[in-house]
Amino acid sequence: MEVTVVGSGTLLPDDEHRSAGHLLESEWAAVLLDCGSGVVHGMAGIGLDWAAIDHVVLSHFHTDHFGDLAPLLWAWKHGVPEGRQRARSILGPRGTGELLGSLAEAHGDFILDPGFPLSVIELDSGSVWEHPSGELTIAAHSTPHTPESLAFRVRMAGGDMGYTGDTGPHPPLGPFFEGVRLLIAECAVADSTGVDNHLSPSSLAEIATVANPEILVVTHMYPEVDRSTLPDLLRSMGVEGTVVLGEDGFRFSLGPTE
Ligand SMILES: [Zn+2]
Ligand SMILES: [Zn+2]
Repeated sequence: MEVTVVGSGTLLPDDEHRSAGHLLESEWAAVLLDCGSGVVHGMAGIGLDWAAIDHVVLSHFHTDHFGDLAPLLWAWKHGVPEGRQRARSILGPRGTGELLGSLAEAHGDFILDPGFPLSVIELDSGSVWEHPSGELTIAAHSTPHTPESLAFRVRMAGGDMGYTGDTGPHPPLGPFFEGVRLLIAECAVADSTGVDNHLSPSSLAEIATVANPEILVVTHMYPEVDRSTLPDLLRSMGVEGTVVLGEDGFRFSLGPTE
């Protein structure tokens, strides 16, 4: 599995850290986890094959996680040669279909009629969606961020990976992610901020020490989080394995399990 951090930032304007988007690619499928503002141009800037995306998975309905969904649908409709069109799906929490309906009212018919078969799949917390090929499964777990917010555990070539989306402190995510090889996690705020709808270093460490991934990629930091000291801080809190600060364009392979 090839993993690319397309957007590692928040909604604050920052050309080096676009809103949330993470691309997973295997020979069977290409999955985009969240499609926040700036992700479409970001994929082009990195040279990613955005036309080959099969599934977009939305964690919740904040603009920094779905803001580029309409531009992506437009790009697929008007920027992909006919021979490269494919059936695609958009997965997300309950309300994803309604969201697309609202986007169609605002942007136009191309949202629901993009020129290829488009399916909308709404996931409940605790559900597991499996692609008919058997090469991709996505498990969902609710998070305390907004009522609809979901975290995901994705199984595809190369093993399991986890994605927190946005979440407040939530110890049950530790067991949900246990044994994943890769965990992409938000760490939006500093511990001193004391908010309950985002992770801070200590509440992220609480999850990551149980999940114990080979690689932890930390993203979605507001400026109050000191990026330079964050990996060492997380290690001091017991996080083992490789800790990487998410940067736009960061790309790596997750090879087959030995
Ligand atoms: Zn959010
Ligand atoms: Zn966010």
